[in-house]
Amino acid sequence: MDFKKIIKDVFKDVNSIEEQGALASYIPELANVNSKKFGVHISTLSGINFGLGDFQEKFSIQSISKVLSLCLAYQMLSGEVWDRVGVEPSGNPFNSLTQLEKDRGIPRNPFINAGALVIADILLSNLDDPKKDLLNFIRSLSGNQDVNYSTSISSSEKSIGYRNVALCNFIKCFGNIENEPDKVLDFYFDLCSIELSCKDLSALFLFLANNGKTMHDNRQILLPSKTKRINALMQTCGFYDESGEFAFKVGLPGKSGVGGGIIAIHPGQYAIAVWSPQLNPKGNSYKGMKFLEGFTTLSELSIF
Ligand code: GLU
Repeated sequence: MDFKKIIKDVFKDVNSIEEQGALASYIPELANVNSKKFGVHISTLSGINFGLGDFQEKFSIQSISKVLSLCLAYQMLSGEVWDRVGVEPSGNPFNSLTQLEKDRGIPRNPFINAGALVIADILLSNLDDPKKDLLNFIRSLSGNQDVNYSTSISSSEKSIGYRNVALCNFIKCFGNIENEPDKVLDFYFDLCSIELSCKDLSALFLFLANNGKTMHDNRQILLPSKTKRINALMQTCGFYDESGEFAFKVGLPGKSGVGGGIIAIHPGQYAIAVWSPQLNPKGNSYKGMKFLEGFTTLSELSIF
């Protein structure tokens, strides 16, 4: 499979289409991002590493980090995680409050904001130094020490984070948040503020294509049975209420963030990351989705 040629061809095509979408300007700091940025990078189990465009530039990964915090909680707690958060697509916007009332404070899945707040609470209750421990966990996935939180992004989001504040307090009133909401929210805003490039992302998510084992030092991060479940959740819940569309058009497990990044996994083959900051109305990268659709169509490699 000539991944490099396919990536070059699809990148060229998608780069030439008219710009569409909007920056996630509800987080003031993200309104300053250059909307023309476009990068892609693939890391394969066979050892190919290839990128194009702005693939080495760090950007705010936002909700993509929800997969990483979930992996750490799942590694520590196993099945107890699912007593606190569900595994069903929400069919609602990522920051919706309404479903929580009906579901008595149990978020539909760990990738909507409500679910990620509960996972943040689990980490706070089970780690000595959650902020440092999460960073060390992420660094260990690819051996890359150059991974950090962005204080400008976390404080920017905190300054307008009223809806997340409401979500956290609402879940707390149902008893599904153990720690003080302020602490949970600070940790949540920090984890959303992590900055990585497409190159960093595809390298560190490769363990999910490799049955839960890292490639660089051969460590079993998650059991294969748990890895299967993380990938299944990314497939069914990774794209807000556009997860069906992503499965239909791209056919890979993945996760997007409002910073315009998308990571997608082909179990047994590769991890691929795309970044283009302009979002479609559902909050997913417009060009990122187009690129991945072209990539799995031309390579004829999707999980379906
Ligand atoms: N920090 C963002 C928020 O809570 C994350 C949204 C996202 O990337 O889905 O609104």
